[in-house]
Amino acid sequence: MLTDNHGRKINYLRLAVTDRCNLRCFYCMPEDGLNWLSRSALMTYEEMLQSCSLLVKMGIEKIRITGGEPFVRKDIMKFLTSLSELQGLKELTLTTNGVLTAPHVAELKRIGVSSVNLSLDTLDAGRFFSITKRDEFSNVMATFDELLKQGIDVKINAVVMDGKNTQDIIPLIELTKKLPVSVRFIEEMPFNGDDHVYTGLKWDYIRILEEIKGAFADIKKLDDPLYSTSYNYQVPGYMGSIGIIAAYSRTFCGSCNRIRITPEGELKTCLYDNGVMNIKDQLRQGISEDNLKLMLLNTFNSRAKNGWEAERQRAKSQGVHESMATIGG
Ligand code: SAM
Ligand code: SF4
Repeated sequence: MLTDNHGRKINYLRLAVTDRCNLRCFYCMPEDGLNWLSRSALMTYEEMLQSCSLLVKMGIEKIRITGGEPFVRKDIMKFLTSLSELQGLKELTLTTNGVLTAPHVAELKRIGVSSVNLSLDTLDAGRFFSITKRDEFSNVMATFDELLKQGIDVKINAVVMDGKNTQDIIPLIELTKKLPVSVRFIEEMPFNGDDHVYTGLKWDYIRILEEIKGAFADIKKLDDPLYSTSYNYQVPGYMGSIGIIAAYSRTFCGSCNRIRITPEGELKTCLYDNGVMNIKDQLRQGISEDNLKLMLLNTFNSRAKNGWEAERQRAKSQGVHESMATIGG
């Protein structure tokens, strides 16, 4: 079993396969996109597979593929199929914006992907366009339908943004009335790929919950699963559930079991750190598996206690302003 210097189990890897995306969610990246990584700066699929294989041998049990948008990277299904065959991997999941995903859902089911997080901040096509700058709402909904049809567990991720989509909180919850989905409301974080100063948070998890209770006074608290990042609730009689993720308030660090690898191979042991080592560079310098393992263990043994400490440890000039797409949200 892998543990860190604070006694927390590490068994979950989030791997971002690209920084590129076909949407421009305003909380994630500027409208003209990011300074995209060159092909040679990206980890190759072989390098990703090699890293995942070692990490699974070391104790990682669950891998989530994210980005950027995973489905804009060529041959992603071939890579997912290879990953799904890794001995010892118990769970393979992914996070997608759903624009290109629908045609792949049956194959995802076949290779054993049992749950998918679908990002959807609004049920209104006009607001979808104003948030993402792309007219893709119908394709995202087609993915949602296909996931349900194939019996894949769906979690909808909605970032709550002041003045943009707070009117969608209740309609999104209404989806849980007749559908077995979990709708999770995420506090907006400062990872928007922009240098503008982030001025606090108007919709924290407490305010989101108050808003929900205003419409559903009898909302029931559910037990939060081990390592859950969300506070979970259910409207009595509804099929699905609701989660609130305090991603900015960072209330879940005490049981954090996750690490991240960015598209350029940077290992992050906390969402808020600045990268603790570059796995791709080590692989390209020909490091042996034993030495890579030692380096990884070292980073796990010097992990920040929480997101506040990780953020403080960053150099001042490198404050938090990168995009979630380059981190792997
Ligand atoms: N493109 C895919 C998608 O949107 O689902 C996967 C990558 S995206 C970076 C992963 C998740 O990060 C999405 O659910 C998105 O809503 C969330 N995210 C991105 N920027 C965020 C921010 N500034 N604050 C909170 N969540 C954010
Ligand atoms: Fe793209 Fe996902 Fe970022 Fe939106 S949140 S811009 S879909 S990477």
